[in-house]
Amino acid sequence: MRVAELPGVGQPARIATRPVPEPGPGEVRVRVEACGVCGSDHFLQEGGFGAKVPWPIVPGHEAAGRIDALGDGVTGYAVGDQVALYYISTPPGDRWAAAGRPNISPHVTRMGVDVDGAFAEYVLRPVSSLVRPPAPVPPAVLAVLTDAVATPLHGLKRVAHLQAGETLVVLGVGGLGSSAVQLGKAMGARVIAVTRSAAKQQLARELGADLVIGANDGDVVAAAREAAGGYGADVVIQCVGDARVDEQAIAIGGPGGRVVLIGGALEPFSVRAAEIFWRELSVLGSRGFIPEDIRDAIDLWLAGTISVDHLVAHTRPLVEADAALGDLREGRVFRTVLLP
Ligand SMILES: [Zn+2]
Repeated sequence: MRVAELPGVGQPARIATRPVPEPGPGEVRVRVEACGVCGSDHFLQEGGFGAKVPWPIVPGHEAAGRIDALGDGVTGYAVGDQVALYYISTPPGDRWAAAGRPNISPHVTRMGVDVDGAFAEYVLRPVSSLVRPPAPVPPAVLAVLTDAVATPLHGLKRVAHLQAGETLVVLGVGGLGSSAVQLGKAMGARVIAVTRSAAKQQLARELGADLVIGANDGDVVAAAREAAGGYGADVVIQCVGDARVDEQAIAIGGPGGRVVLIGGALEPFSVRAAEIFWRELSVLGSRGFIPEDIRDAIDLWLAGTISVDHLVAHTRPLVEADAALGDLREGRVFRTVLLP
């Protein structure tokens, strides 16, 4: 089968041929129909995941496809079933997975980081990582629902517990932030989006933001606090990989506010403790998502509550994986979806 693999840190993706993998007990082989190219693939390419990556690695963790073969002991699924893939698996008896939080287990095995991913014609997955949609979903749509939508959904719903009637500030309107805008509206919040480019400001309006602030237009913190009623926001979701924006996120949080960090800046940020305790702010981390978030994202899309048209607008064949990574790096697209 054909794959796109990264040979090592800082190197371009190249096309390679591998044997079609055979599913072991409890595994299925999935014929990949779509795989999103995500910021964390670029992070992987730049060496961000550290020394444990088994180079050469096939990236790809935002994927959907059809079951192609069943390993021993697999029941409840059939060849041909459409499935979304949860990219994490955990060892049997894992304490965090048992508590419904496989995403934070120290023992995660991540498809596309620790084991070969879905920049490939076929991928092996444990049956526990499959999410079957209740109705057919176009492959590219199903792929982006598993990460670009599920990640902010996890942050807003399961980490920040955003409530109807609250004010949400979304910092950054990229792949994650654009979904956060729509999800915030779907959850009944008043949504204020902050982003730099005019095109992204326009997109935020189209996706339902009640108010849009230009990230380069003067004092963003003052503008966002003012827009949130003068005292700051109930929830802030920080989707930009920039420590200065981490600081802005905390400054925008209002009394009792929850500040969710999902954008990965490489530099530390600084804050005075009094800023946090005086307003009883909660500064929260949100890491990826759990299978339930994928199910929720699928349901919202099937109900017509959210759109992912802007995330699936750019597709490329698998052989153009390196160009897709380049598009992402240069900020030319929100996302590219590879179609093997
Ligand atoms: Zn991702």
